[in-house]
Amino acid sequence: MTTTVLPSTEILTLPSDQDASGRTLGEEEIALVAEAIRTGTLTSTKGQFVKKLENRFAEILDVKHAYACTSGSAAVHLAVAAIDPEPGDEVITTSITDMGALTPILYQGAIPVFADVDPKTWNVTAETIEPCLSERTRAIIVTHLFGNPCEMAEIMQLAQSRNIPVIEDTAQAFLAKHHGRYVATIGDIGCFSLQQGKHITTGEGGLVVTNDDALARRIFLLINKAFGYGDPNPDHYFIALNYRMNEITGAVALAQLDKMYWSVQQRRRTANQLSELLIGVRGIETPYVAPGNESSYWKYCLRVDGAVIPGGAVGLAKKLKEERGIFSAPRYIQKPAFQCQVLAEQRTFGNSRWPFTLARPEAVDYSPSKFPGTFSGLESILVLPWNERYNDEHVHYIADSIHQAVNELAN
Ligand SMILES: *Cc1c(COP(=O)(O)O)cnc(C)c1O
Repeated sequence: MTTTVLPSTEILTLPSDQDASGRTLGEEEIALVAEAIRTGTLTSTKGQFVKKLENRFAEILDVKHAYACTSGSAAVHLAVAAIDPEPGDEVITTSITDMGALTPILYQGAIPVFADVDPKTWNVTAETIEPCLSERTRAIIVTHLFGNPCEMAEIMQLAQSRNIPVIEDTAQAFLAKHHGRYVATIGDIGCFSLQQGKHITTGEGGLVVTNDDALARRIFLLINKAFGYGDPNPDHYFIALNYRMNEITGAVALAQLDKMYWSVQQRRRTANQLSELLIGVRGIETPYVAPGNESSYWKYCLRVDGAVIPGGAVGLAKKLKEERGIFSAPRYIQKPAFQCQVLAEQRTFGNSRWPFTLARPEAVDYSPSKFPGTFSGLESILVLPWNERYNDEHVHYIADSIHQAVNELAN
């Protein structure tokens, strides 16, 4: 493929996932929301939309149980709480993720233990997880970052050899596949987010999936204040919140499900197109997807070599923004999760620092020398927003802009 170099003064506005230009919200959602409102029943305990959503999502992923909830953070909380760690037990997770995937561990009284990442994919691996395992490890959470699947075969082998359940955070990875299987269905529990910027959206919302009947029962109860709806002598059985999705949100989500496949296909097609257009550009590497994996391209991430491109990812981002109006995010999250105040200063409940007071010192040792992949990964990453509504013109514009910026910057 060749690139058609546009005049460098021309600015093209790209579709954005923050408004209608880059979302698939339309008449189908409006019709179902209107239908939901006309029923007069907006709680999912009595309505049909959330139930339909759960059944349909389970069917699509070919999984036994799916439950809707209020956010991706709620989904992760439900997963951790379903596994029911003792206070001070450890949950291995990743140093590069959304905070909504970490604070639920603390709310459940467990200690997040951070695994380093492979700087090539920004994902945890069996190799980075292994040194974090201890007598107190109760669960492993893997995040398929940017839609690119982790190497699950190796991770599951390690986890199963120690009998440790695996939670897949698939908030960024709708319909991504590892060795032909949808992520979220490989581990014990999968967690999705329907937040504004994910592949499909209801503004806020979440979904949890599992094939395990006992975990499913606990997830259902944890969504519903642990009230045993339908039981002979129902009671509130244990500590739990109200994480129920409402029917209006359920109606939007149900309509969005029909568009999920298209969104992922489009993102894949245009991402592959960009990767081809960037072949041979000095100082950048296009996304690495391991053989056997299919990414769903939540974002499109470049690795920028600061030795070739002075200023590295930050310099390239600045040029793309100033000269072509292309927004991108160097570093993704500004710092590894463990350097955020909540973790670094252990700000939890009052001044108690609980549950950190129960932690083994090694579990909360965040020395940078333990995280070489994380630091080098964040140093080189440039995150480009990606979108199902990008067309050929958008992709060529992005490619031309990168070619041009690198030509001007590179040594
Ligand atoms: C978005 C996201 C979450 C949290 O989802 P919310 O709906 O924003 O609470 C958790 N994990 C990952 C990887 C995410 O991208």
